[in-house]
Amino acid sequence: MNLILMGLPGAGKGTQAEKIVEKYQIPHISTGDMFRLAIKEGTELGKKAKGFMDQGELVPDEVTIGIVRERLSKADCAKGFLLDGFPRTIAQAEALENLLTDMNQTIDYVLHVDVPKDQLVERLTGRRICPTCGATYHVVYNPPKQEGICDRDGSALMQRDDDKPATVTKRLEVNLEQTEPMLDFYQDKGYLVTINGAKDINQVFEDIDDKLGDLA
Ligand SMILES: [Zn+2]
Repeated sequence: MNLILMGLPGAGKGTQAEKIVEKYQIPHISTGDMFRLAIKEGTELGKKAKGFMDQGELVPDEVTIGIVRERLSKADCAKGFLLDGFPRTIAQAEALENLLTDMNQTIDYVLHVDVPKDQLVERLTGRRICPTCGATYHVVYNPPKQEGICDRDGSALMQRDDDKPATVTKRLEVNLEQTEPMLDFYQDKGYLVTINGAKDINQVFEDIDDKLGDLA
């Protein structure tokens, strides 16, 4: 079961990824984890990647795709994998296609957890954090007992700058611009499955699970 998970910030991708890997026993492979592992293991490509990262530069695609190849060749990927955060560009998506063809494999589904933008804005701007204990709340989905006050220690809750409407909207727009060509690419390949992410977490997973049942 070879899967790619896509979705904008706030779409609940992380939660669904956890549920998928737990049920189907495939590794969750995020770009960050993949780089950290290659660097930790000290592979040639890991060393190269670290060199770019240490200088604050983007890791070039040929290094990244090499690291993806190393990761997908590991024993825990025998039953498949869930890629998250990769590919990010059409060039990377094409490189991944070639890599999988080389490995005699193919993508089964690209799962796109789709949530309307205004709902994402609501989800992301509703976050509140306690500056004292770090507890997080949401004004709609997980409100404190008393508005604006931490349940644990009575501190006044704060909204992080990242969660303010202008920043959130900008972040979503940048992501959307990046994501749309990828969705078109995978639609053309016939891999794309759009999942309505505007529902309850468990219902969203049921929809994903129904679809993955075709492969099991
Ligand atoms: Zn607190």
